[in-house]
Amino acid sequence: MIPLAKPHIDEKDIDYVIQALRSGTLSLGPFLQKFEENFAKKIGVRYAVAVNSGTSGLHLAIRALGITKNDEVITSPFSFIASANCILYENATPVFVDVEEETYNIDPEKIETKITAKTKALLIPHIFGQSANMTQIMNIAHKYHLPVIEDACESILATHHGKNTGTFGDIAVFAFYPNKQMTTGEGGIIVTNNERLYKYCKSAANQGRSDALQWLSHDKLGYNYRMDEMSAALGLSQLEKIDFLISKRQELAEIYSKNLVNLPEVKTVRVNQINHSSWFVYSIRVDEQQRDKLIEMLIEKKVQSKAYFFPCIHVQPFYQKQFGYQVGEFPVAEKLSRETLVLPFYPDLSEREVLLIIKILNDSLRELKREREQTKP
Ligand SMILES: *Cc1c(COP(=O)(O)O)cnc(C)c1O
Repeated sequence: MIPLAKPHIDEKDIDYVIQALRSGTLSLGPFLQKFEENFAKKIGVRYAVAVNSGTSGLHLAIRALGITKNDEVITSPFSFIASANCILYENATPVFVDVEEETYNIDPEKIETKITAKTKALLIPHIFGQSANMTQIMNIAHKYHLPVIEDACESILATHHGKNTGTFGDIAVFAFYPNKQMTTGEGGIIVTNNERLYKYCKSAANQGRSDALQWLSHDKLGYNYRMDEMSAALGLSQLEKIDFLISKRQELAEIYSKNLVNLPEVKTVRVNQINHSSWFVYSIRVDEQQRDKLIEMLIEKKVQSKAYFFPCIHVQPFYQKQFGYQVGEFPVAEKLSRETLVLPFYPDLSEREVLLIIKILNDSLRELKREREQTKP
């Protein structure tokens, strides 16, 4: 079976993790500090706080901005569920705005109508490695004096007008689960240029300990969201080759896109002229009547595939029950959600494998077409 994702782990990664293990310092050590410093430098921000997951990072970002009960946060229904769950952790309300069909990102034109007196922030996911339209979004944020949290968990080193995602808003979060462009096993990192937000996150991730206070003094409610040294060591090593990892993904995306042009039933993602994608997944869209059958056929032929994101966040059972959202409220996101599937995509995938996947995809689509023609009345 060709998997959907596979981390690229080399001898240097293994060596760094072993160094951490041999050092005797397994938490709050030099790898963590170095990883945070280097990450901040690479993205071009002043501060970084490494944490034990992207979700933990988003939770702290919400808390750092003081978002609480009855507040509203504007976000996208076409994202990984953590982008909305982090709002619920503080009993605030996610207010969804539909997405652009071309980029799958939140539609800036539809944000303003959802802003109310209760709106406290915009939480903007950059989907599948492509930046949301941060020019328009930051204009709206400035106009209404709203802070912006970037969910950059899928978009490390993606740019918009040449500027990195994670550097537009007040605070941003990246994630390092093994299917992301770089990994720490589990892990994430918060970045910001704001010293107050930085200090809050640094402390809250470590049980609320304050710099000035003794080890066991806590001046606020904190969490154990710390990243351990083995993860930080892996992160440091992966960060040193992140340009290579992203360029491999770029090459593979180009091979997919070039060859999929010949399949009229398949739509591929459009990368906006002003963006440079860092390619988190390779997604395609097909007729929604065929999508699930197609995924089954691919898996039968040993090509892993998955509907992504399905269903949209607002119609996840828990959200429907809690907020009463109905199917049909965010038609663009829901259409994408019914049509999209992702194909195997990771740096060690070979060109030959991509071409094989496309052949299998093509064969499956032909088979589906024949079946459809046979069942026509
Ligand atoms: C991966 C991801 C996260 C964070 O995931 P974790 O598994 O908690 O690290 C958050 N938002 C989006 C959009 C993601 O893709």
